[in-house]
Amino acid sequence: LPAAPVEALQADDVAVLLPTPDPDAHKYTRGVVGVRAGSATYPGAGLLSVAGASCGLAGMVRYVGDREVLDLVRAAHPEVVGGGRVQAWVVGSGSADGARGTLEEALADDVPLVVDADALAHADLARGCPAVLTPHAGELAAMVGADRAEVEARPLAHARAAAATYDAVVLLKGRRTLVAAPDGRVRVTMSGTPWLATAGAGDVLGGVVGALLASGLTPYDAASAGSWLHGAAATLASRGGPVVAGDVAHALPGLISALLHP
Ligand code: AMP
Ligand code: MG
Repeated sequence: LPAAPVEALQADDVAVLLPTPDPDAHKYTRGVVGVRAGSATYPGAGLLSVAGASCGLAGMVRYVGDREVLDLVRAAHPEVVGGGRVQAWVVGSGSADGARGTLEEALADDVPLVVDADALAHADLARGCPAVLTPHAGELAAMVGADRAEVEARPLAHARAAAATYDAVVLLKGRRTLVAAPDGRVRVTMSGTPWLATAGAGDVLGGVVGALLASGLTPYDAASAGSWLHGAAATLASRGGPVVAGDVAHALPGLISALLHP
């Protein structure tokens, strides 16, 4: 079979995909996203994943993790609550112990999930699940036993192959982000800025994609719309200058309003 053409996602496409609340919506119908990221060693990963998830696209954000991180999360995001039922999990960044146990706990809930960072080393456990794997080139290289330079030289081929191998959506981060589905479809997003090459940016992305999964988007749509929003929020916050990851998260609600009301 010839490979399907790569679709470049644009603002109009994302506006159509965005979940909007029905008049009779309540927070649970809008979806609950749970974050299992960060640790006492790397609290920022938890905070930034929560910040991305708190973009307003889901009805509620839950945080599950170390007590001291939960305290920081609650101080920064008073709307966030503790553990309970969720419609999607975000797992893996900033773990202190490799994230395998965290991933297994999330998988036990049988809901869609974002698998990032340390948890990518165990992504085979999520094979066939409604999952979005979010590696950068180095992480994808480690997953498939290739060199980073080889992935960077042929990102499309590697993203497609990994999506088929893991039977999951693969979101390969970089200057251009590629979102590959197991059936061979690929979308590319180019809404970002090189200023986004900054610590914690990927943690925010995981939270955004998780919120979209919780709201009911398919893994392919959640990954590609989330990637576009994340890049566009960075470009908006940057205005051609430096941004930090938290700025990207803060720009999301305003960006989403502008998309809905052009
Ligand atoms: P991470 O490596 O997990 O922190 O994720 C980095 C984030 O920054 C991803 O969303 C990348 O797509 C984005 N990013 C990294 N480098 C660039 C670049 N040169 N241009 C645009 N976006 C980038
Ligand atoms: Mg990362």
